[in-house]
Amino acid sequence: MTTGQAHPNHQQQLLEAIHRQCTRPWTLMEVCGGQTHALLRHGIDQRLPEAIRLIHGPGCPVCVTPAERLDQAMALAAQPGIILCSFGDMLRVPGSGQRTLLSVRASGGDVRVIYAPLDVIAIARRHPEQLVVFFAVGFETTAPATAVLAQQALASGLANLALLVCHVRVPPVLASMLEDPSCQVQAILAAGHVCTVTGQRDYEALAARHRLPIVVTGFGAEELLQGILQAVRQLERGQHRVENGYPRVANDNGNPAAQLLVNQVFQPVDTPWRGLGMIPAGGLALRWPYDRLAAERHGLLAPPSREAAHGMGERCLSGEVLRGRLLPPACPSFLSHCTPEHPLGAPMVSSEGACAAYARYHGSRL
Ligand code: SF4
Repeated sequence: MTTGQAHPNHQQQLLEAIHRQCTRPWTLMEVCGGQTHALLRHGIDQRLPEAIRLIHGPGCPVCVTPAERLDQAMALAAQPGIILCSFGDMLRVPGSGQRTLLSVRASGGDVRVIYAPLDVIAIARRHPEQLVVFFAVGFETTAPATAVLAQQALASGLANLALLVCHVRVPPVLASMLEDPSCQVQAILAAGHVCTVTGQRDYEALAARHRLPIVVTGFGAEELLQGILQAVRQLERGQHRVENGYPRVANDNGNPAAQLLVNQVFQPVDTPWRGLGMIPAGGLALRWPYDRLAAERHGLLAPPSREAAHGMGERCLSGEVLRGRLLPPACPSFLSHCTPEHPLGAPMVSSEGACAAYARYHGSRL
């Protein structure tokens, strides 16, 4: 059994096994930004066989939240009588222009960082005269907590709480990327924490359709090496099935209670992902009766700006990075015009962004 803790001998054994298994070039994509950071932090990318190319997937929720939604959140936060609640990572992400929620707060907007969605209930109770809007962002891992918030808000009859929903779903975006004829991914390291909620059913369909191995993978050095070993082993054998490389945490069926909760509150909808365009069934929207909590119902949302709707105003190549077509150091702005202190795009802002990972762990080597 693997664990998230460092066991240098076992890591070395896994690395040696990968080197023995690998006889040809292979391109692997790790889906989650947390995995990207761990791969670079542990120097795994530097110790793999040269024939293995790692490309970094779209699994950073902050990076893929569309500019138009950020613009709407900022416009809401700027209005008197509204409290906008968000996770801290979202505050420094630019929308279609240079403004951020942080700059809106500096100009007097009431933007509050919360640590759990249920915190919003207490804020709404303390400020009955104001509309409290929760900017609900994240993958399948965070959607259940938003679903609990929606259920409690409705049950308690809170009339001053609204949700600006931006939850997104991983399997549809992987399907979209794999359908692209230019996609070079030959194996996927799926995000173990997402599979803990969703299970592996959707991944089985993807593996069969695209004839590629998918290994559910964790976040520690050993877990990542284990996932890479299982993926390479399948590739070398010509296999294409879903394997669980994270059995300590993930199982085939995921968390049925969390799935039920999400299905009660949300329904899949076509959703734009920043840098990636419209993803069929790529997001979640509130379903009846929870849709009465939607921020859209309050008539306060600005229509998307022309820049946001057309993707103009984006001065960075985050779409190419998120599709795995470009490694961050190949972006002309990387560590010149775009730095962690002065980011041009979300992948440099987010603690899970690929550009931030290269800046942090590879910056001094470039
Ligand atoms: S380095 Fe900066 S400008 Fe380039 S893709 Fe990353 S976030 Fe965008």
